[in-house]
Amino acid sequence: MLVKSLKIIPVEVVVRNIVAGSLSKRVGLIEGIRLSSTIVEYYFKSDELGDPLINEDHIRALNLASMEQMSKIKSVALKVNDILLHHLAARNLELVDFKLKFGLHNGQLLLGDEISPDTCRIWDKTTGEKLDKDRFRYDLGGVEVAYEEVYRRLLN
Ligand code: UDP
Repeated sequence: MLVKSLKIIPVEVVVRNIVAGSLSKRVGLIEGIRLSSTIVEYYFKSDELGDPLINEDHIRALNLASMEQMSKIKSVALKVNDILLHHLAARNLELVDFKLKFGLHNGQLLLGDEISPDTCRIWDKTTGEKLDKDRFRYDLGGVEVAYEEVYRRLLN
């Protein structure tokens, strides 16, 4: 794999289409409710602090990224959502939410990290079966089989 080394911006960008995970706990909505509009959230990457939820004002005040960079980050995140949502839907897969990271390479803002069932919630559209890392998080078993199923459908 050819890769570019990035100076990672310490902000995790989460895009949500359906309620799950920490959003469900934070706002008290049950998992599975389709959001009436897409949510983009930012988390400050800090193991000591447990990656707290922050907003664009925090990002500006803490000098984590410029507002110009944040505007590009948000628009790329929504574009990734649009492309991925339709790509997965055509394979009977529901894109619930996912996380992105961005970084700088020679001053250029680039999408970094990976996009996989480790960083996305992906459900079977018909059965609602979880085909992502939640199988590991909630000790549901069948992690490898689920990841292989996503891979198999993506190849079609
Ligand atoms: N996520 C991730 N890495 C993290 C935290 C979250 O890839 O360190 C992904 C997670 O797989 C899900 C989305 O971001 O697709 C939203 O996660 P959430 O905030 O609900 O947190 P979680 O319930 O996973 O702790």
